[in-house]
Amino acid sequence: MYKVPGCENPKHPMHFTLEAAVIWTSVPQPVREEITLKTWCRHCELPAPLCEYGGSMKGRVLVLKGKCGFCIRRINQMIDTYLLPMPQN
Ligand SMILES: [Zn+2]
Repeated sequence: MYKVPGCENPKHPMHFTLEAAVIWTSVPQPVREEITLKTWCRHCELPAPLCEYGGSMKGRVLVLKGKCGFCIRRINQMIDTYLLPMPQN
């Protein structure tokens, strides 16, 4: 598992699978910020900051699982990697 620098609580390092970490870190920083600052929280019914998140792949979908920055309950973000602005080879 991969550790990526945290959003809030260093006691809870974020865990990424290697595959998910490679994809996530290749996404431009402003796009990552946009995604992690506006993750829909179904509890708050608001776009919320995604904290203490980790990531894994489900096929071509990158799944970020973490906690809502407002209510601390679990939320996740599904990102279709086909829609991401990836660097071209
Ligand atoms: Zn919330």
